Amino acid sequence: MSRPPAPEPLPLPVVDDHAHFDHTRAGDEPFAVAEALAAATAVNVTRAVQIGCELESARWTVEVIDRHRELLGGVALHPTEATGLVAAGVAAAGGDPDAGQAALAAAFAEIERLAGHPRVRVIGETGLDHHWVGADDVSGRAAQVASFRWHIALAKRLGKVLQIHDRDAHPDVLRVLAQESAPERTVFHCFSGDAEMARFCADQGWYLSFAGTLTFKNADPLREALRAVPFEQVLVETDAPYLAPVPHRGRTNAGYLVPITVRCMSEVRGMALDATCARLDATAGALYGPW
Ligand SMILES: [Zn+2]
Repeated sequence: MSRPPAPEPLPLPVVDDHAHFDHTRAGDEPFAVAEALAAATAVNVTRAVQIGCELESARWTVEVIDRHRELLGGVALHPTEATGLVAAGVAAAGGDPDAGQAALAAAFAEIERLAGHPRVRVIGETGLDHHWVGADDVSGRAAQVASFRWHIALAKRLGKVLQIHDRDAHPDVLRVLAQESAPERTVFHCFSGDAEMARFCADQGWYLSFAGTLTFKNADPLREALRAVPFEQVLVETDAPYLAPVPHRGRTNAGYLVPITVRCMSEVRGMALDATCARLDATAGALYGPW
């Protein structure tokens, strides 16, 4: 299937705060990293944070950031991955719950080793996913909470940025963050809360990263959230290959479509497009440091 056409380039460079260059959606042609980066650079989306959130993907992330200087890395176990690792460990050991914990501990050790790379600046995405793991899966949800706590501690221990995945789990994510005390630099990837939650997060000094969902027709609460916070705490991301912005909703997303979301941001905030880009880029620079 052909890809959506490129939008007008942005007047100034911006960073895609969260992407999965190694993911390909079912039925899609893979988008080679060099090609995806070139397409993004052509519209002034010049850098990106590659997120590897299962073991194989985290290993790949560390390799790809060495090959492409435009990329920073993030490594973690996605909440659903934590649930899956524990379940698989238990099943492989004929139902022994200790084996689930051992499987998780082994994965943690490898994530921590990979996170030592100097251009892995992010621990993420980690958090809670109540969409894919229901309330009836008690051990699955417990694995997510344990994993989230471990990643929060890791980010603090290594002085890295925490990127949070919060799907249908706002109160529980905020509760765990309050219990553990969040790392100094914490980002809600693909922010999905309302204005009240956005204000609360901003008051804690956290960052909100908005994806193509901001452009969706039914996303008035999200646009309200964007209006409710200091723009100095806002980032833009793709979550590629997912969450393509309107008018390409449902198709494959990639960094070269970020200008659509940035234009939406500038309209929602009533800011000039060049000022919007400059601020987004400065925020990414302040958060991650030079690279
Ligand atoms: Zn993601």
